[in-house]
Amino acid sequence: MKINSTLRLLIALLLGLIISVLLGRFIYSIETQGIKSAFEKDVVTESLAIEREIVLNFHAIDSLKNFFDNSQHVDPDEFKQFSTTLLQSHPNIVALSWVPKVTSSKRTHYDSNQTYFVHPLHITERDKTQQLIPAQKRDVYFPVSYIEPVTGNENALGFDLASNPQRLAALTLAKQTGEIAITASLKLVQTTGTRKSFLAAVPVYDKGPGQKQSLKGYITAVFHIDQLMVNALKNTAEHDISLTLFDQTTAIAEELHTTHPEITHNQETILDYPLGLIGGRQWHLEASPSRNYIIQKRSANPFIIFLLVLTFISSSLFYIFRLHKQAEITQKAVEQRTLELNEAKEAIERIALLHDMTGIANRRHFDDYFMKEWQRGQREQTPLTLIVIDIDFFKQYNDNYGHLLGDHCIQEVASALSNTLRRASDLLARYGGEEFAIIAPNTSDGYILSELCRKNIETLAQPHAHSKIANHITVSAGFATLIPSNESNPDALFKMADQALYKAKSAGRNQSAAF
Ligand code: GH3
Ligand code: MG
Ligand code: MG
Repeated sequence: MKINSTLRLLIALLLGLIISVLLGRFIYSIETQGIKSAFEKDVVTESLAIEREIVLNFHAIDSLKNFFDNSQHVDPDEFKQFSTTLLQSHPNIVALSWVPKVTSSKRTHYDSNQTYFVHPLHITERDKTQQLIPAQKRDVYFPVSYIEPVTGNENALGFDLASNPQRLAALTLAKQTGEIAITASLKLVQTTGTRKSFLAAVPVYDKGPGQKQSLKGYITAVFHIDQLMVNALKNTAEHDISLTLFDQTTAIAEELHTTHPEITHNQETILDYPLGLIGGRQWHLEASPSRNYIIQKRSANPFIIFLLVLTFISSSLFYIFRLHKQAEITQKAVEQRTLELNEAKEAIERIALLHDMTGIANRRHFDDYFMKEWQRGQREQTPLTLIVIDIDFFKQYNDNYGHLLGDHCIQEVASALSNTLRRASDLLARYGGEEFAIIAPNTSDGYILSELCRKNIETLAQPHAHSKIANHITVSAGFATLIPSNESNPDALFKMADQALYKAKSAGRNQSAAF
């Protein structure tokens, strides 16, 4: 029982623990969703910043194109002036160029007319070892003719963009769409090292009155991808998010730039976010938060909920357990009290049935028992024997030894008679002052028991100097037996035994007499 209740408590506690853990985990997963949403929002903000930066710079290219569109001829000084202003307000543009279309027939003319043309090789291209060489003969050349700033970009002057497939692809796309087109990532002619850059080109058309619209050349702008990204993100700067920019225009994606490469990517939270089509190329952002980013956004709520629920459940369980224990204790106390009360009740009943002085049955108990045994005898038709015993010359005993010793003598006689009885069904009672009665159920002759009693009193040898028949206490006994029936009653049997006692007294005392 005790083990059961402890086991039940343990099982309930375990269930409480499981519920607390599940709730904690639930709150944790809600929080994780929240962090993911916040992360996605941050990535969107950063991607918008990149797109905005590109659009702003493309506007600068467009304004230079408009300048060319609206001028019949732009000379180097005008180009320098306009470009310098634009470059000052657009620090991400590394260089702005004017790239005219030169057909093969005009190459010689072009070469000889470039007053500002500084490169000794005139129209150039790169050989397999990346060395600049005079451009091979082709139908159309797109040499960089004006460039701003010139300083640092000298090598680009005269470089034929048509000599390089990536650059030519962008020029072709720009011509097809009439919009800005950009190249895949490039290593610039004018720079050394592995810095990734790209070229943006927009076509300029000859729109003289009455003339058929023909391509005059391109405005191009050079960008360093790392510089563009850093400047685009400097205001939104979320230092705990690593962004990797990919060019996914072709089947094999090319990594262009990574911000915060020190952040280790967590595969579970990488977000692939496509930017809008940029100059005809499909750029993607791969974003990943750092551990710190997630830790900063985590709260103690899941753990607090776990602790609160666990505390609530376990304290409730302990309270119920205590109530249960208390009920058990109360139940035990009630049982104990009931036992005590029953014992007390039995003791009272015993006292009520027993005679104070002798400890044997009293008159009331005798009467009840006599009636019960009478009825049983009547039912079962078994003989019932009654023996009445009276101490001889007890008046003299009292007179000579005093009442106290008289009482003691009665106790001795009662005890001796009680010890004489062997059957559990025999009952000895103190019937009157110094008179006793024995009910012996299922006994057909009272003589043996009657004599046994008488002899045992003699054996006591209780001194009685004033008895007329002995010098010790003696008793006389009368007995009678009946099979109870309707024709008779207990009183009649008693009277028969009493008459037999009278016979015994009359015959000289210290003897048994039958009715
Ligand atoms: P017998 O029966 O032999 O004819 O003579 P007896 O002297 O015994 O006769 P009786 O019945 O007249 O006397 C009984 C006496 O027993 C009277 C009374 O003083 C005494 N007695 C009765 N009850 C008690 C008792 O509880 N204590 C004492 N000490 N004496 C008692
Ligand atoms: Mg008497
Ligand atoms: Mg007597």
